[in-house]
Amino acid sequence: MHIDRSKPVLVTGATGYLAGWIVNRLLKDGLTVHATVRDPHQTDRIDYLRQLADSTQGTIHFFGANLLDQGSFREAMNNCGVIFHVASPFVLNVQNPEEELVKPAVEGTRNVLSAANTTPSVERVVLTSSCAAIYGDNIDLQKTQNGIFTEEHWNTTSSLSHLPYSYSKTLAEKEAWKIAEGQQQWRLVVLNPSAIYGPGIRVHDKSESFNLLRQLGDGSLATGVPNISMGVVDVRDVAEAHLRAAYIPTASGRYIVSGHNSSYPQMAKILRGQFPTHALPTRVAPSLLVWLFGPFIHPALSRPYVHRNLRRPWSGDNKKSRNELNMEYRALTETLCEHFQQLIDNGIIKSAPR
Ligand code: NAP
Repeated sequence: MHIDRSKPVLVTGATGYLAGWIVNRLLKDGLTVHATVRDPHQTDRIDYLRQLADSTQGTIHFFGANLLDQGSFREAMNNCGVIFHVASPFVLNVQNPEEELVKPAVEGTRNVLSAANTTPSVERVVLTSSCAAIYGDNIDLQKTQNGIFTEEHWNTTSSLSHLPYSYSKTLAEKEAWKIAEGQQQWRLVVLNPSAIYGPGIRVHDKSESFNLLRQLGDGSLATGVPNISMGVVDVRDVAEAHLRAAYIPTASGRYIVSGHNSSYPQMAKILRGQFPTHALPTRVAPSLLVWLFGPFIHPALSRPYVHRNLRRPWSGDNKKSRNELNMEYRALTETLCEHFQQLIDNGIIKSAPR
C-alpha cells in the first residue's frame, strides 16, 4: 500500500518531547503538518515549532485538541493521510491514576481513531505505544520462552495500583487494535519504544525522560543508583521509526523500538566517563537500602516494584524494527551525552566537584 506523501499529516501532542522530533522530521521532508496542542493560543509553547517550520520546506498549522474531548481531533484531521497519535500523559507520580493516566490514554486513543474512521483521507495511523505495553516488570522476562521480550508479548501485570502508566499504555494500545480491526479504511502500525533519551528540540521538562536523567546529574542519587535495567533508545531514532512506520508500504503490526539493553548503573558510568566534573553517582545503591528507602525517594519505587525489578535483567528484541523498518540505532554514549549536555547548557544540571 503506497502512502500519498502530498497529503497533510496529523501529529497529536506536538508540544511533547518525542513529538518535537517527529514534527521536525516531517517538516524537513517538506510535508504539511497539522499539529494538535492543548492550547494553540499559548504562543510561547509553540513558537519554537513555528520557527522549525520557517527553516524548512514544510508547513505547520496548529489546532486545539484535548484527548478527553470527543470530536476535538476532527478538524485537525481533515484531508490528512497519516495520523501520528503520540499524545498520552507520561507521568509516574500521580494521585489519581484513573483520571490522570488511564482516561486520557484510552479515551484519547478512542477519540483520535474514531475521528480517523470518519475521515476518508486517512490511510495509516501510527500509534506511539511503549515497551510498557509489552511487559510490566523485569521479572516478567522469566516467563518468556527465550529470555527476551518480543512483539508477541503483552503486559499482563500492571494495574491501577502497580505501574499505572504502563497499565494506561497497555489499555490504550489494546483499544487501538480493537478499533483498527473493526474497519478496513486505514492500517494501524504501532511503535513500542523503550525508555527514550537524547536531546529534545528544546528542553522538555515535562517528560519523565527528562526527570530520570536530571536525577542522575543533580546529586539526588549521590548515595547510589538503583540497579535497574531497561531498554534505551534515542529520541531521534524513535522519530525516524515513526516516519518509516508511516511511509514503508509493508510496515504492519507492532515494533519494539529499542537501541540498547542498559541499566541506570551503566548509564551513570557512561556519563561519568564524559563529564568528570559532575556529581554523577559512582556507586550502586545496596538492594536493602533501595527496598527500605525507595518509596520515600520516589513513589514509583514501591516495594513490589523494587522486588520485581531491582537486579533483574531486561532484554528486548529489536530485530523486527531492524529488518522491516531498516532501523539502525545510535550509540548509547551519543544519546546520553548529548542529552546531558543539553541539560548543562540550559543550567538544569550544574558542574560540581565530585
Ligand atoms: P511528553 O513530552 O510529556 O509528551 C506527552 C504529550 O501528551 C504532550 O504533548 C502533552 O501535551 C500531551 N498530552 C497529555 N495529556 C493530554 C491531554 N489530556 N490532551 C492533549 N494532549 C495531552 O512525553 P514524551 O516522552 O514525548 O511521550 C510521548 C509519547 O511517547 C507518549 O505516548 C508516551 O507514552 C510515549 N513513550 C515515551 C517514552 C519515553 O521514555 N519518553 C517511552 C515510550 C513511549 P502538553 O504538552 O500540553 O502537556
